[in-house]
Amino acid sequence: MKYIFATGNENKLREIRQITADMDIEIVSMKDAGCFEDVEETGTSFEENAFLKANAIAKKSGIPTLADDSGLEIDYLGKEPGIYSSRYMGEDTPYSVKNAELLRRMEGVPDEERTARFVCAICLVRPDGSTETVRETMEGRVAYEIAGENGFGYDPIFYLPERGCTSAELPPEEKNLISHRGKALRKMRDILAKEAK
Ligand code: IMP
Repeated sequence: MKYIFATGNENKLREIRQITADMDIEIVSMKDAGCFEDVEETGTSFEENAFLKANAIAKKSGIPTLADDSGLEIDYLGKEPGIYSSRYMGEDTPYSVKNAELLRRMEGVPDEERTARFVCAICLVRPDGSTETVRETMEGRVAYEIAGENGFGYDPIFYLPERGCTSAELPPEEKNLISHRGKALRKMRDILAKEAK
């Protein structure tokens, strides 16, 4: 069975291929499938944005398509930056600046009000229009300072109380075991595995 993963991000493609490596399925990029559509994320939830991307490509290609959407929700900031995580303060603003600004907005906020989570939704749309959606989170808190060199994006300010470090301080394999994206990919893997039978 062949699926498209609607992303321009090579890391995401590599991760889903690793997670489904022992299955009899092929995951191709949009480029491999000859699709070059840039789908606008106009939804109001992670699930909706993942659906919009997967649906546009599945319709165009006639191939079952997966797409994901993810971001950071900070409770104290009314779940900002949320679905606007990559667009927060502008797409091209470096994360060192975005992270410093979020820490500034959280100045003086006590531990118990610093709760936050990374969210990942993955949607599968089949050419017949049927869909499957999964959502997973990684719970944590906004750190007091930037720490760690691994990961990307908001990882250096995302503190994991039970690990005593930020997600940017975890080795990538360890982060994948507990991350929103790792968990959502494994949930979607189970759906694909049933489909392959
Ligand atoms: P997208 O899902 O590719 O649209 O990316 C969403 C944005 O959420 C990323 O650009 C990051 O800003 C943020 N984000 C999502 N997952 C993570 C993560 O695991 N670590 C750090 N930032 C993340």
